[in-house]
Amino acid sequence: MKIIVGQGSCGIAAGANKVYGAIEKELELRGLEVELALTGCIGMCYLEPIIDVVDDQGEKTTYVKVTPEMVEEIIEASMIKGEKIEKYTISDGDQKTLEKQQRIALRNCGMMNPESIDEYIARGGYKAIEKCIKSTTPDEVIEEIKVSGLRGRGGAGFPTWFKWNAARQSPGDTKYIICNADEGDPGAFMDRSILEGDPHSLIEGMLIGGYAMGAKEGIIYVRAEYPLAILRLKRAIEDAKERGYLGKNLFNENRFDFSLRIKAGAGAFVCGEETALIASLEGERGMPRLKPPFPAQKGYWQKPSNINNVETLANIPWIIENGGSAFAAMGTETSKGTKVFALTGKIKNGGLVEVPMGIPLKEVIYDIGGGIKEDKAFKAVQMGGPSGGCIPTSLLDTSVDYDSITKTGAIMGSGGMVVMDETTCMVDMARFFLDFTRKESCGKCIHCRIGTKRMLEILTRICAGEGQDGDIELLEELGVKIKEGSLCGLGQTAPNPVLSTIRYFRDEYEKHIYDKK
Ligand code: SF4
Repeated sequence: MKIIVGQGSCGIAAGANKVYGAIEKELELRGLEVELALTGCIGMCYLEPIIDVVDDQGEKTTYVKVTPEMVEEIIEASMIKGEKIEKYTISDGDQKTLEKQQRIALRNCGMMNPESIDEYIARGGYKAIEKCIKSTTPDEVIEEIKVSGLRGRGGAGFPTWFKWNAARQSPGDTKYIICNADEGDPGAFMDRSILEGDPHSLIEGMLIGGYAMGAKEGIIYVRAEYPLAILRLKRAIEDAKERGYLGKNLFNENRFDFSLRIKAGAGAFVCGEETALIASLEGERGMPRLKPPFPAQKGYWQKPSNINNVETLANIPWIIENGGSAFAAMGTETSKGTKVFALTGKIKNGGLVEVPMGIPLKEVIYDIGGGIKEDKAFKAVQMGGPSGGCIPTSLLDTSVDYDSITKTGAIMGSGGMVVMDETTCMVDMARFFLDFTRKESCGKCIHCRIGTKRMLEILTRICAGEGQDGDIELLEELGVKIKEGSLCGLGQTAPNPVLSTIRYFRDEYEKHIYDKK
């Protein structure tokens, strides 16, 4: 018998630690010797705390929304009577939402103990790096990633193989692979869940990337607001060192010696931009700089450096193990594989999902996300965080892939989906996102620094019922100018929530301005 408690941040916030403590106490009281373990988030944050009771035949019963008060009853039924308490178990409908997904980056999240390297190895972990070192040349690894069609999951969607190859081709013996785990979009927690639920996949992805591009050192830049992720990563790095995967690699100690360390960032959104991230790593203020030179030419300490995000790297071991063509078999012509999304806002099944690229947006929101809370009408979904845009009801059939989402005026971004219902004020929503980007602007460019401030003033005025004739046009003009005149992605995309809401919900702006009574 085994009891597994979901202890990602979402589970803990819902009371998983108290449930864990209550189980420990109940087992002790009854003198039962049952293995009690933890796991990461399985994606169904709306059902947390979740526990799995696994019997001696390996059959699993999942209990959801567990409270410490339910523990005695669950243990009595499962451990003493050999029964289930149906009313507490996961419903068939919720179970089906899991089955509709294709989990590659999330393949181990909620399925294993993230603090156990043995469980990762038992699930096939570190086999991909072994395969690379023993029988695949760095060029062949890059070719496999090229075949997979994997594009960066952090937002820009740049082909991963191209970046790896650029770093590999850059002259020099000292190169770096950097993981951007500075997830900062409001409503996004894809990377945090992977770090908390499956840190070894990231480590293995970085090992493979380091091997392919000739980097001997890796750095994970993770935001300090993710203490549990940092804790589990630290433990995973220590365990990987002890087992010989990091340091002089046990598979071939003469050829590959790779070290990995964590840098906790102070939580500036702009540090998600790669040149700002590098500046921050070097101890400077996190401000973007002009490119070229690109990080692949002159990055961290002027050495060739490659930056990938967490989800991108977590896909890598699977691609090496299963082949690039298996990954490319999923998705669309230009967007291969799967994508992880964080569903938040007015959606019933809030949490994490991983779906094949090309799936219609409607399926994600209704079939997997369960539809809108209290069965209200869907109004829009904000994709791409504060840099993204909103997609209205009329475009719900849009295919979830880089090109189709961009055509709507939103962006794929890193995977945040904030769902809004009929009661949401779209002007206020745009104001919220613009307020965020205005505060996070590093201040280097006038267009971004002053332009976002002016746009926010206008939006605040409109929301307060003090809008004026010409405000909408002024917002549009400013938005276009800011996009054109800003140096980095933050400024270039900051007006998107405003421009896309004007495009699809202009009537709401007009109502605020002209129907004040
Ligand atoms: Fe800084 Fe904004 Fe310019 Fe980016 S666009 S460099 S965040 S001022």
